Amino acid sequence: MVVDCHAHLDERVLSLEMLSGKMDEEGIDRVVLIPRITETVEPEKSAVLLAVQRTMMNSSLLRPAAAAVSTTFYDEYGALRPLWRPFTQGRQGYIKSTEPDNESVAAALEKMPERFWGWIFLTPRDNPNVIEDLERWRAVPGMIGVKVHPYWHHYPMRELSGIAQRAEELGLPLLIHLGFGAQGAYQWLAETYPRLRIIFAHAGMPFFKEMWPLVRDHANAYIDLSSPHLSERFVRIAVAAVGPEKCFYGTDSPYGFSSATGVYDYGVIKGWIERLKITDREREGILGRNFLRMVGA
Ligand SMILES: [Zn+2]
Repeated sequence: MVVDCHAHLDERVLSLEMLSGKMDEEGIDRVVLIPRITETVEPEKSAVLLAVQRTMMNSSLLRPAAAAVSTTFYDEYGALRPLWRPFTQGRQGYIKSTEPDNESVAAALEKMPERFWGWIFLTPRDNPNVIEDLERWRAVPGMIGVKVHPYWHHYPMRELSGIAQRAEELGLPLLIHLGFGAQGAYQWLAETYPRLRIIFAHAGMPFFKEMWPLVRDHANAYIDLSSPHLSERFVRIAVAAVGPEKCFYGTDSPYGFSSATGVYDYGVIKGWIERLKITDREREGILGRNFLRMVGA
C-alpha cells in the first residue's frame, strides 16, 4: 500500500478528480490532504532558488542568512514581494491564507473516503478558539492528525502548547513545518510532549541534518520526504541519517514538479524512493507501511 502523507488540496491547481486519476496512474492508494496555504495560486520557485535555499538551510553557519532572506519574501499582508518574482515561475506573486480551509478537506473525505485522509490544519495565531476547532474537525471521519506551520503563520513554537498537549492526549499525530529560531523549537516540542508522535515536514526543513539525530533517537519522531525543496540526493542522505523506518513518503502536491503539460507530476518523489539503495521491505515501509503503523491503521 502506497500512502502520500503530505499533499495539499488546491483544486485551482489540481481537482480532486484529477488527483484521483494521478493516484491511479502512479499506483498511490491513499493521499493525506492538507488545506491549501495560499489565497491565490502559489507560483513555483525556480530550481536555482530551491537549491540555494536548501544548501543554506542545511548549514548551521549559513542558516541565519537563509532566515534573514526568508523575512524578505512576504510583506505584512502575506504577499510575495516583487523583488522575488523573477525567481518564481511566471514571475507571479501570491497571498498567504491566514485561516486554513478545513471545510474543503472534510468535503473531500466525504466524497472519496476510501482514497483520502485529512490533516486538520490549525494556527494558534489570532485564534483563541483553536482547541475548539481541533475538537470540531477531529469529529470528521478520516481526519487523522493535526498540521501546524509556525513558519507560514509566524508564531513561536511555544504558542503550540495547547494544541500539542491535546494532540498528545488524543493520540493524534502532529505534522509540523518548522520555522527559524523560536518558530522552530523542535527540541522543546519533542521533550515537552514525549508521547506526541511528531512528523517533521520536508525532512526537518529548515534544520535538516542538525535535527536528524533527534529524529533517529526519539521514539516518536519522524520525517516526511515531501517537497521540491528536497532533491533525490538529499533524500538519500536524510534516509541514511535517520533510518528508513523513520521516513514517510510525501509530495507537497500540487506544488512543485509540474510536468511539461503543467500538471503536477506525481512520479518524481516516488522515483527518488524507488531508486534508494535499501531493502524492498524498507522501501515498502517508506512508501506506506511506516505511516500506516504510525497512525495505527
Ligand atoms: Zn506542505
